[in-house]
Amino acid sequence: MKVLKFGGTSLGSPERMHTVADLITQERGKKIVVLSAVSGTTNTLVNIAAALSKKNHIEADAIINQLYEVYQAYCVNLLHKTNPLKKGKEIVEAHFTVLRSMVGAEYSADVEKEILAQGELLSTKLFVTYLEQEGINSTLLPALEFMRIDEENEPDEAYIREHLHQLLKQNSDQDLFITQGYICLNSQNRVDNLQRGGSDYTASLVGEAVDASEIQIWTDIDGMHNNDPRIVKHTYPIPKLSFDEAAELAYFGAKILHPSSIRPAQHANIPVRLLNTMKPEAAGTLITADIEPEREFTAVAAKDGITAIKVKSSRMLLAYGFLRKVFEIFENYRTPIDLITTSEVAVSLTIDNQAHISEIKDELEDFGEVEVHTDHSIICIVGNMPFSKVGMLKKVLDAMGDIPIRMVSYGGSKFNISLLIDSQFKAETLTRLNEKIFGQAR
Ligand code: ADP
Ligand code: ASP
Ligand code: MG
Repeated sequence: MKVLKFGGTSLGSPERMHTVADLITQERGKKIVVLSAVSGTTNTLVNIAAALSKKNHIEADAIINQLYEVYQAYCVNLLHKTNPLKKGKEIVEAHFTVLRSMVGAEYSADVEKEILAQGELLSTKLFVTYLEQEGINSTLLPALEFMRIDEENEPDEAYIREHLHQLLKQNSDQDLFITQGYICLNSQNRVDNLQRGGSDYTASLVGEAVDASEIQIWTDIDGMHNNDPRIVKHTYPIPKLSFDEAAELAYFGAKILHPSSIRPAQHANIPVRLLNTMKPEAAGTLITADIEPEREFTAVAAKDGITAIKVKSSRMLLAYGFLRKVFEIFENYRTPIDLITTSEVAVSLTIDNQAHISEIKDELEDFGEVEVHTDHSIICIVGNMPFSKVGMLKKVLDAMGDIPIRMVSYGGSKFNISLLIDSQFKAETLTRLNEKIFGQAR
């Protein structure tokens, strides 16, 4: 069994959806196809929810009507035979009836999640209708019947495996399954999601659950590039990555992969291939357990919205038990720490979830003076960096030149150096690293 995931841009127009159908029929054997919403849809659904949260019903109605027009046209161009077109229009009607019913409902986080789920429900149902029109036999596996998160908002892997296997068993003569990325049920059995970009995570979780032979992530670029192509010119695709390298890049901002999407594949040792729908012949990136020992630097990524917190204590800061007390505060507020550096009198750390920053600051003040600095970015440089390989940190620091660095983290693993900088220097930092450590033109 293979898992093939297609992102929003791969479904951005009816023609693209036709290409997706061609690509999946070329792939032999059993497969589960995970689809995102059509590009732009989830952002529009976010806007509808935002308007409703402000009780701006007129605005919400207007956005819904605009999106409705988009889907009407999409349907007409996707489906040309009478019955499939009729069915497609009914699907669109049904989901827009749900959206319109939300305008009158009292707004809540559950309503928001219900709204956000409509994109993947629409794309998968329209796609299955198109396959039917073309005489391609497939079965829709409703993600809400097997994809679930627990009380901690973590995937409930045992549940996913059990329920997915049941569904597959009920359709054991089928070779082609279609399912929704991103959406799931939560521990209260309400509709929820795996956070933005979550269809990659669905694909990896599904792959792990069915012990897939390969997970393919089809997107709009020919694999993981060495640097952020949205910011830096002259980036290039990386043919091979290790799971650790890919996980680090995804977590620290390489948008091509959801931050958590590598872990399930790594856990089950399933190769992940990143491929380009617009250029299917391109090699893309293959992610496996193998490392490329001869390679020094692999890639760099940047994560924004980082807050740096420094606790300066006159008391013996690094006395035993002190860091535990500091970490406990973050644990109590369920706030993960990304980077940490220490000195005899101070400890600095970074977080990206600012939901409880003022409570955390108040509690840290019991230990000493606390400084909080927002609008920072973590620059994550990934490569093959055994400690015996001398000079890699120097190369990075030399490349930075006169850009101020607030924190440096090296030695935590053998494949990563992280720097904390003010976000205003992000573009220049990525550009300098591209020039100096990857040898690319500016
Ligand atoms: P999809 O809709 O298929 O999920 P995404 O927009 O989520 O696609 O991810 C693909 C995009 O990720 C690319 O178009 C590219 O702009 C961006 N991106 C950011 N960093 C990288 C990187 N290091 N390598 C490749 N793409 C990257
Ligand atoms: N449609 C969702 C989003 O835009 C999930 C995804 O595309 O992966 O975030
Ligand atoms: Mg994505």
